[in-house]
Amino acid sequence: MFDYHMHSRVSYDAEFAPAQMALAAKAAGLREICFTDHMDYSQKIPHGEISFSPGEYRDAYRDVSLPGLTIRHGIELGLTPWNRQEAARDLAAFPYDFVIGSIHHVDELDIYFPEFWLDKTPREAERRYFETMLECVTVHDGFDVLGHLTYVSKSPSNPAPRIIPLEDYRDIVEEILRTLVRKGKGMEINTSGLDRIGDFFPGAEYLRRFRELGGEIVTVGSDAHTPDRVGRQIPEALSLLKDIFGYVCTFADRKPVFHKL
Ligand SMILES: [Zn+2]
Ligand SMILES: [Zn+2]
Repeated sequence: MFDYHMHSRVSYDAEFAPAQMALAAKAAGLREICFTDHMDYSQKIPHGEISFSPGEYRDAYRDVSLPGLTIRHGIELGLTPWNRQEAARDLAAFPYDFVIGSIHHVDELDIYFPEFWLDKTPREAERRYFETMLECVTVHDGFDVLGHLTYVSKSPSNPAPRIIPLEDYRDIVEEILRTLVRKGKGMEINTSGLDRIGDFFPGAEYLRRFRELGGEIVTVGSDAHTPDRVGRQIPEALSLLKDIFGYVCTFADRKPVFHKL
């Protein structure tokens, strides 16, 4: 089993040491993990330091190893329509194995917090989120998989969290999926949605459509910020991927490795 999305205290919103997360992964029966710490950019209303330096990252992970557990080094890169150059600079500063591209900020507001939701209906907020995602995947090339496609449902500030049917934003979402396919990019199944809204981010219909359009690269991740969530609901995600793709991917040196399921 693999968990390709987790955060240690290198991320501004997590506080556990890399070694604690690795021990939890071993205990959960995982054989390979990838740390994917937050590298986010600019926010109108500050909620703390949203990035880290390459030196911090290197120091935090240099001595972390466990027999029987492969540990890869990745990043969760916050995509915005305007940060292509900054992202390229930061990606060049460390030899990452894997890069998740995620949309956390829309119009420079962190969608996790109330300020993004105040002047919009929930449907307007969802639409704005997907429109921004389309802009981001169009502009950016420096990521390997698109993170948690329906994450807008996870925000605790969302007044009407729900499982978003593909049908509701089909035009935009299909364009996002086509763009990923055209660029040879993948998609992750993020299991953190199961507890929050009762479905993966994104759910099966998005993954099926991605496959139909020619998508090939898929990863799984718990998005654990604490040891108790490492590896959570990964078996369920792998079972879904087995049905739709027949395999799951890991990464080394920014290249996908395919594992038959
Ligand atoms: Zn994220
Ligand atoms: Zn994350």
